[in-house]
Amino acid sequence: MKITEVKTFLMMAGAPPDSDGDGTPRAGHSWTTRNWLFVKVYTDEGITGIGECSGWPRVIETAVKDITPLLIGEDPADIERIWQKLLVSTMGNGMTGVVGSGAMNGVDMALWDIKGKALNTPVWNLLGGKMRDKIRMYGHAKSPEQALKLKEMGITAVKTGGVVNPVDQVEEIRKAVGDEMDIMVDAHGPPWFTTKDAIMVGKALEQFNLLFYEDPVAPENIEALARVQDNVDIPIAAGERHSHIWGVKEIIEREIVDVIQPDTGRIGGISQMKKLAALAEAHGIMVAPHSGSLGPIAEYAAIHVLAAIPNGLILERVEFDVPVRYELVLPHIPTVDGYVQVPDRPGLGVDIDEDVVAAHPSHGNTTLPGTPEDGAYEAGTFDEHLYIQQRFRRQRTMRKI
Ligand SMILES: [Mg+2]
Repeated sequence: MKITEVKTFLMMAGAPPDSDGDGTPRAGHSWTTRNWLFVKVYTDEGITGIGECSGWPRVIETAVKDITPLLIGEDPADIERIWQKLLVSTMGNGMTGVVGSGAMNGVDMALWDIKGKALNTPVWNLLGGKMRDKIRMYGHAKSPEQALKLKEMGITAVKTGGVVNPVDQVEEIRKAVGDEMDIMVDAHGPPWFTTKDAIMVGKALEQFNLLFYEDPVAPENIEALARVQDNVDIPIAAGERHSHIWGVKEIIEREIVDVIQPDTGRIGGISQMKKLAALAEAHGIMVAPHSGSLGPIAEYAAIHVLAAIPNGLILERVEFDVPVRYELVLPHIPTVDGYVQVPDRPGLGVDIDEDVVAAHPSHGNTTLPGTPEDGAYEAGTFDEHLYIQQRFRRQRTMRKI
């Protein structure tokens, strides 16, 4: 079998106006211009594979086009050799950035899909077989009402985000949902959140028995993350901003994280996810892939990896952010009682509807500059200050401390 063609499918996934699924935009919410990028690899035997790339989708589309000549004529079965060839080919552009790894991610995922289809077996089977038939998932909630809604749907774990008075927020959610539901907090590692603040917030959160405390500080600052780990008795999670096994090597080897969160679109593909999981396993670290802002192909890939690895913790699943999410792929795997059934179809078991991609043309790479109408941050609002300014209303963040 030979690779004959590689196509990219870039689309505007849109702003997430509807995180609680009630059909109305979230009040005061103005962030995100989100693009999704998919890669389809074609072969001379008529089998195609689908993959997804995140990191900087519009830029990565160009990267995929750049590496395409290296793929034409290759045997798609040689996944590892092709991966290493692509890595070396991008050496001059810097080997370990999210653009290169995002492009390789999509291709690698598509090659696993092709291999599964060619052998008539699911990707999880190629990764060593199933550890589990269904994957526990968690949803996102900003309020006790949203968390309760998830609980009523049978979902058993919920993540709340941001650093706007997280202690009050978690206290209210814990009161609403009771002790049986797992709660996670994602601080999103804002650059202005000092390490000491992250430790103070973490210590105040200890009483709520969290599943994990995610990106308490900017995760690029490994020493700061290590200080939080040493001082807060909550499992620490990080990893979504990194690419390749080399990006997460130090935080795993030094056991600075308890939960590693590879981004399923930019870690470098299913091959890298499997290696990362083994590295983490050796250190007793659990894997919880980051897939919330990604498209549904990455989510499928995360399901296959979580099905096959011993240290899979939980699947991030944002079902109600953008309506196009599940128009794009067939079949959609529903969440049933807080779990997602592992698919049995060959390969990844999913494809994109190209008409849906075409109906959502891409625009915008970043959230700034722009207007709220573009999905950008609105000047002077809390969202802008949260992510751009050095410090905004410390008392609002730290009120309970
Ligand atoms: Mg996160």
